[in-house]
Parts: sequence; C-alpha cells; structure tokens
Amino acid sequence: MKKGKLFVFSGPSGTGKGTICRELLKNPDTWLSVSYTTRAPREGEEHGVHYFFVTREEYDRTVEENGFLEHAEIYGNCYGTPKKYALEHMAAGEDVILEIEMQGALQVKAAYPDAVLIFVLPPSLTELRNRIRLRGTETEEQIDLRMKTTLQEIELLEKYDYFLINDDLGEAIETARCIIRSEHCKTAGYAKSLIDRYKEEE
Ligand code: 5GP
Repeated sequence: MKKGKLFVFSGPSGTGKGTICRELLKNPDTWLSVSYTTRAPREGEEHGVHYFFVTREEYDRTVEENGFLEHAEIYGNCYGTPKKYALEHMAAGEDVILEIEMQGALQVKAAYPDAVLIFVLPPSLTELRNRIRLRGTETEEQIDLRMKTTLQEIELLEKYDYFLINDDLGEAIETARCIIRSEHCKTAGYAKSLIDRYKEEE
C-alpha cells in the first residue's frame, strides 16, 4: 500500500497558504491536521474544525505525555500538532498536511527527516503589504512589524525543501500538487517493493 507522507506548509500571514492547503484537500487521500491552541477562538472559528481550543493545563499535559509532533509558543499563545491523528492518517496511506509556523516546521523535520517542508512566499513585500492592508485588520505599525518578521523568516528559507511563490493562486496550487506528486515518485523507500513487484510477475 502507498505510504502517506507529511507535507508542512509555512509562510508569512497573507501569502495564501491556507487557501492552497484547503485546495489540496480536494484530493480524498489528503488530510489536514487540526492543531491544539491555547488562544481564544476568533469569530466564526469552530472547535475541532479550525483548532482544538484547549486550556493551558491540557496543552501542558499533552507536552508532558509527548503527544505533539511539534509545538511552539507564538505571540504568547501555545500551538501544537497532535501526534496520534497525524500518524494514524499516514499509516492509513493518506498524505498529512500541516499548516504551521517555522519553529514547528523545523522540529518536524528534525524528528521526521522524510517530512517535506514547503515555504509559501508572496510575490513581493509590497504585494504582501497591500494584501494585508486590504484585509483592514491591522494598523500600519503592526504591518511594519509583520514585514520585519517576514524578512527574518525568509532568511531561513534554505531550511525548507521547496518554495512556492503565490503570485497566481491557480498556478501556486498546481505547483503544490506537482511537489506532492513528485515526492511520491521518489525511489527512496520504494525501490525494493517495486522491484519485487516486477519480479513476481515473471
Ligand atoms: P493563528 O493564531 O493566526 O491562527 O496562527 C498563528 C500562527 O500559528 C500561524 O503561523 C499558524 O500557521 C501557526 N500555527 C497554527 N497551528 C500550529 C501548530 O500546531 N504548530 C505550530 N508550530 N504553529 C501553528
């Protein structure tokens, strides 16, 4: 049976990585991990759909029980990827998608070197600034701070396996699909079973 792989998407807020990940779910063999967070739900967010909204105690307990694939504190809130579900879905042959920030992505890579790290980039910082301005949720000062953080994140780009520039959304989605497809054509880990399959025919 085909083994599921772990695909980790990161990138600055406003690059459209959420939209890209949701499109990938149209493939029924793909599953999106739902994280634990200690932050309060925003309007329209549902428990179990967008996040599992947990108490700090529950989060700490899960850390102690080694129940996270990775976890990180971001702007004073805690986030973590539950290990159990992700591993179960991969074992069932599904690709598992994580949409997490960089500290977490690098933890995943350290623990699971086969995980594929994909960094979603904006076409330019000017374009990113314009997109965030259009959302109208942040002050100019907050946007300036975001741009600084974005530049710091981009400095670590080399730690990722792939980058994706989201200039045209349709193209970016297609590139993400191509990355996933190519990863499944790697010989590593499959060569022996493939050779055996052809030999058995003889
Ligand atoms: P927000 O609070 O805006 O939903 O998310 C803030 C940041 O946390 C985003 O960059 C998001 O990708 C990241 N994030 C969400 N879930 C997780 C997680 O389980 N682990 C890590 N490391 N980051 C997460």
